[in-house]
Amino acid sequence: MAIATINPATGTLIQPYEALTAAAIDQRLTQAQQGFQTYRTTSFEQRSHWLHQVAEILETQKQAYGELMTLEVGKPIKSAIAEVEKCAWVCRFYADQGAAFLQDDVTETDASRSFVRYQPLGAVLAVMPWNFPFWQVLRFAAPTLMAGNVALLKHASNVPQCALAIEEILAKAGFPPGVFQTLLVGADAVANIIQDDRVQAATLTGSEPAGASLAAAAGKAIKPTLLELGGSDPFIVMPSADIEQAAATAVTARMLNNGQSCIAAKRFILHDAIADQFLVLLVEKFRALTVGDPRDAAIDVGPLATPSIRDELAQQVQACVDAGAKALVGGNLPALQAQLPESLRGGSFYPPTVLADIPPGTPADQEEFFGPVALTFRVPDWDSALALANSTSLGLGASVWTADSSEQERAIAELEAGAVFINGLVKSDPRLPFGGIKRSGYGRELGQPGIRAFVNAKTVWIR
Ligand code: NAP
Repeated sequence: MAIATINPATGTLIQPYEALTAAAIDQRLTQAQQGFQTYRTTSFEQRSHWLHQVAEILETQKQAYGELMTLEVGKPIKSAIAEVEKCAWVCRFYADQGAAFLQDDVTETDASRSFVRYQPLGAVLAVMPWNFPFWQVLRFAAPTLMAGNVALLKHASNVPQCALAIEEILAKAGFPPGVFQTLLVGADAVANIIQDDRVQAATLTGSEPAGASLAAAAGKAIKPTLLELGGSDPFIVMPSADIEQAAATAVTARMLNNGQSCIAAKRFILHDAIADQFLVLLVEKFRALTVGDPRDAAIDVGPLATPSIRDELAQQVQACVDAGAKALVGGNLPALQAQLPESLRGGSFYPPTVLADIPPGTPADQEEFFGPVALTFRVPDWDSALALANSTSLGLGASVWTADSSEQERAIAELEAGAVFINGLVKSDPRLPFGGIKRSGYGRELGQPGIRAFVNAKTVWIR
């Protein structure tokens, strides 16, 4: 993908960018390596101060950074501003907790003193996606820098201005040169960068092919990686649940960021006893959503980030409908386009859609639907709900709605996911670890595991 800012609400090219030359990449890698030598010796207090400064800058400029995200990816402005606020939270969280998370772990052995000390690794490459252009980066950067590592950001090619803005924020906050650098490069440059001796580790948030490709390149050079990949999260609703609350939450859980969230609820698994009631509510709420210009604080759903994401989603929906699924609402792209004002006709909008009666053998079985489409399924009992929930190759999050404590316990024990939320939507929170299993990736960000993701847990034994 060419590196450029293109407004997805209109399709207008705003600003193309040249990728860095090999010489410029080389110079930045040297700067990272040199920067690490002094940065690693700074105190937790100093790093904490810089992170607090980042939080301050983010909060003071949240409107401007929110507008930048809305411009580059079409995120509704209210949620863009909320994303900036959440970035300030994660910075403050690690600024305040980082030192405690990394203090020596003392263990009694045959030594007079033995413990584990957590030390930084060096330069960590972060390959990041466009869907939460600030959050994904700060979620990685706050703990990684607090631990004493330095960071290299290869952001998605459609968010160059967000990538440059984040670099500028960290510099303004006081982080020394070489500690956080944005590399404006395409995906084809990533393998060489991770294999370079000046880079020690990598993290990637994005699709399965991208994750597999990065991990393969890193594996050749024996470097650790952390992968946060896709999800097709189940949202199970059982008869004992508060159905009205479950349906209201379902809309938020599916529509966040125009439906383009890895932990969005994507497959709604409904017990037969409440399926009709739930679907009536869900369809009513989807129908009430307003689609339009993401800069307008009154709209609920903006465009998808690129035309290709919209086209892929439209094809997935069409394949389900061709196989016999019913669109209870939405699914009709031409009808939506006819309703949009002239100025938005070139945008990559897709209508909020609820699919029901989806037969087996469609993309809904295994593929992630990255947009405002709810896939709904009926099941006769709890065992069938669990089996359907676990039937995909992905395992990121799961949301379960039930007041029955035995079902709650079985959900915790048996759901194949990195997170289970009972009677609530799956969300990330700096205080709790975040990550997936199966083909959703490995490793954990956030919480204490997040700051220990890229450290040398050095065993120390003293006679
Ligand atoms: P993508 O194509 O994989 O892009 C993500 C990043 O990887 C971009 O910076 C991209 O660069 C880069 N990339 C692409 N192919 C690569 C390769 N072969 N080698 C190295 N880097 C490569 O992802 P996307 O489809 O835009 O993003 C959506 C996906 O991310 C969804 O599956 C979503 O569920 C997942 N996601 C997961 C999480 C999580 O925390 N688990 C969070 C958000 C999103 P270019 O832009 O230059 O191609």
